[in-house]
Amino acid sequence: MTAPGRVVLVTGGTRGIGHAIAAEFAADHAVAVTWRSTPPDPGAALAIRADLADPDSAARVVAEVLARFGRLDVIVNNAGQISPSPVEGLDAEAGQGLLAVNLLAPAALLAAALPHLAPGSAIVSISSVNAVLPPRGAVLYGASKAALNLWTRAMAKELGPRGIRVNAVAPGAITTPETPRPADLQQAFLAETALGRLGRPQDVARAVRFLASDAASFITGEVLTVSGGYRL
Ligand code: NAP
Repeated sequence: MTAPGRVVLVTGGTRGIGHAIAAEFAADHAVAVTWRSTPPDPGAALAIRADLADPDSAARVVAEVLARFGRLDVIVNNAGQISPSPVEGLDAEAGQGLLAVNLLAPAALLAAALPHLAPGSAIVSISSVNAVLPPRGAVLYGASKAALNLWTRAMAKELGPRGIRVNAVAPGAITTPETPRPADLQQAFLAETALGRLGRPQDVARAVRFLASDAASFITGEVLTVSGGYRL
């Protein structure tokens, strides 16, 4: 497992999958979360309010983590915008916002954190099965995750010599307390999922923890699908 006492930053760590990831690490790590509109639990060790679509936010987030804990070992890029992008009536401004959060924010955070990341550090980003299975009516979302996968492999190659690992987890349909799916959509996902259930946020959190841990010390540049066997 990850050596206890390491400092973990989880973006979007106050709801949904990110909340479960933060909880998974909080048992034996120092955890910082970012949030934009969902306030943190009262007991959160460090919660930084930041709109990650703002390019200036990354440097401030990293500075606040370092000021509080003195180091940063793991970045979990979880914050993401899941929104439609219809072919007709495309809202270009909304599309830019989506790409800013889903793709550019992880790059900006890494750029800000890199001078402080020691060998053994790890980056884990939350991608999606939609990176390779195009989502109808949400092409920019899928494209942002496909680009995130490519970024993951590129950064793994570039940072491998420095002992920094970069991986991603690609969830299938995950049911979170905040965004339950309509029954018909739920059935559609279930029909295509080998294990016959939808995912739980903890399913993703455990995979993230594994990839961040020393148990995965020879794994980099990978996208680990956590989907219960979606569309096998
Ligand atoms: P969610 O409930 O919609 O939560 C989205 C998170 O991203 C929130 O914490 C939100 O913060 C944060 N966020 C969004 N825009 C932001 C911005 N501009 N600046 C800062 N934070 C921002 O989503 P989720 O289901 O937990 O998904 C989490 C991640 O898993 C996303 O990357 C998503 O693409 C991926 N994923 C989810 C599923 C699924 O089935 N749920 C499947 C595949 C992949 P605030 O609430 O504080 O605004």
